[in-house]
Parts: sequence; structure tokens; C-alpha cells
Amino acid sequence: MFERIALIGIGLIGSSIAHDVRRLRLAAEITGYARSEATRSKAHELGLVDRVYPTAAEAVSGADLVMLCSPVGTYGDLAREIAAALRPGAILSDVGSVKGAVVRDVAPHVPAGVHFIPGHPIAGTEQSGPEAGFPGLFANRWCILTPLADAEPAAVERLAAFWRACGSNVDTMTPEHHDLVLAITSHLPHLIAYNIVSTAADLEEVTSSEVIKYSAGGFRDFTRIAASDPTMWRDVFLNNKEAVLEMLGRFSEDLSALQRAIRWGDGETLFNIFNRSRQIRRGIIAAGQDTAAPDFGRGQPNTGLNKPAGDR
Ligand code: NAP
Repeated sequence: MFERIALIGIGLIGSSIAHDVRRLRLAAEITGYARSEATRSKAHELGLVDRVYPTAAEAVSGADLVMLCSPVGTYGDLAREIAAALRPGAILSDVGSVKGAVVRDVAPHVPAGVHFIPGHPIAGTEQSGPEAGFPGLFANRWCILTPLADAEPAAVERLAAFWRACGSNVDTMTPEHHDLVLAITSHLPHLIAYNIVSTAADLEEVTSSEVIKYSAGGFRDFTRIAASDPTMWRDVFLNNKEAVLEMLGRFSEDLSALQRAIRWGDGETLFNIFNRSRQIRRGIIAAGQDTAAPDFGRGQPNTGLNKPAGDR
């Protein structure tokens, strides 16, 4: 599909793309950029890239698909750095978990003749780094593209075909709508998980060894999400402020309603809310976005399809 794909950042997502490009022969060559020597040599050792560079500009040279795969807070500087090295006619895309801020930070640097098409594969795990990736991460997951109004339809279709080849279903929407949808489906759940783990860590009457010992009561399921990469998630919240605050406001109101129902012994309200939640879980399973099997965090690595759909 492509002559040369350049991966700017080779962590969980970048390395999973590399696995699929290799396995499915989606490009003749893969180049990569990573800032650390450790990641560069690991990417080479794992055969994720044909050539790996210490600068992003070197990595994108001659590539017809460039994929930004680092934390979203880095995209503006990276775009500025690679702009002059981008090949005319190339597609510049990304995998960032927010889209409005990516358009704001990247679009001003994109030279004429380069197709900038932001994207976000809704697939992931709480693991990070070049060893965390695996083939099939994107299979049966959605990938959202947020092309700008003047995007060339043929280039958008070419990128969509790439994600479909990785097994994804592709949707397109505006960056603003993406950020609202992901605020509730991904960003707020992460904030809640980080907060509940932090609350438990600060308790004095319940010891941390008790929290760990009795975590099977539900707590441990939040800890999986709360183990996600801190840099990535810091950047998500700093770059999707408005949508997250909007959803957080609604969440707080609903939490107050639950608090009131508990205080006043309103079992009917509690039952109705819990029952509706169960239906939503069933809908997710029916849509193939999770399995009904109990997940004790024991999914086999490298079997992608059996892993819980994490983010994002
Ligand atoms: P990751 O495993 O932590 O890998 C991040 C990569 O970015 C590493 O190669 C790292 O380089 C590089 N990097 C970090 N800080 C950098 C900086 N300041 N300048 C240049 N490079 C830097 O992250 P990931 O999970 O693959 O996430 C990458 C992107 O995918 C993020 O934008 C995230 O929002 C998005 N995303 C993540 C998920 C998920 O579930 N994790 C799902 C969908 C989309 P070193 O290794 O050299 O430090």
C-alpha cells in the first residue's frame, strides 16, 4: 500500500502498527524515530523498523505515510521539525487520543502538497514501550479519522484502506465531535480510575496491604486502567480540557444523585440505574467490543484479539 512508512515514536501503538505492516506487507519499508537510544536499539532488535533515526526529520525523509505515535503534547514541535523533510504527496497522520489540539498544533506546519489527516485507533492496553506492541491490536476495533474540510477524498480513502487492512473499522467525524465522544468513553473513565486508586492510596483507616489483598472486590479492575502511561494521559487531559470538564460536570451531578439515593434509602433509583448499566455492558459485548468471559487480567500476551480492549 505504501513504499515507506515512518513511525515517529515507537511505543505500544507505533510498534503494533509496525507488527501489522510487516505481517500484512502494507509497506516495502518502515523507518522509525525514537528519542532514546534504548528504544531505538530495542526497535531494531525486534525487527520493528528497517532503519531507525535519532531525529524525526531523518525518519520521514522519502516516506509516503508518516504516522505520529508519541504523546500528543509532542506533536507541535515534531511537526515543525519534520515539515521541510516531508515528501510532496505524502500522508501525514497520527494516532493521538485527542484531535482538536492535534489539528491546532500540527496543521499550521504542514506544507502544501502534503495530506494531513488526523486519526485515532480506539485500541490499546495499559502497557507502554516498543515491546508492548503486538500484531492484531487494531483488529475488530474502530479507527476514527478526522479529516479537515479541504482534505482530498482520495488521500482519506487511502489512509482508511490502511486501517481497514489492519482489521479496523473506520469512521470519520469532526475533531470536536471526536473529543466529546472520547471524553466520555475513554478520558473520564481514566480520570475516575486514577482518582479511585489515589483515594485508596491516601486512606488511613484502611491499610494499603488490605486494599491490595481484597482488591478482587472490584478495585483491581480500576487499577488496570490506572496503570496507563502517565505522560500520555497528562497530555490527553491538558489537550482535551473543555470536553473533559463538560463530561466531568455531568458525572458529578449524576454522582450526587446516587449519593442522595443512598442517603434516602431510595432502592428503586439505585436499582434502575444499575440495571440500565448492565444493559450497556451487554450492548458492548453484542457489538464485539469485549467478550463476556471474566477478565482477571490473565489474557495471553501476543494473542491480541483475546486481550481486553483498553483505550482510548
Ligand atoms: P508509549 O508506549 O508510551 O510510547 C511513546 C513513544 O513516544 C515512545 O517511543 C517514546 O520515546 C516517545 N516519546 C515520549 N515522549 C516523547 C517526547 N517528548 N519527544 C519525542 N518522543 C517522545 O505510548 P503509546 O501508548 O504508544 O501512545 C502513543 C500515542 O498513541 C499517544 O499520542 C496516545 O495518545 C495514542 N494512543 C494510545 C493508546 C493506548 O492505549 N496506549 C491508544 C490509542 C492511541 P522513548 O521510548 O524513546 O521515550
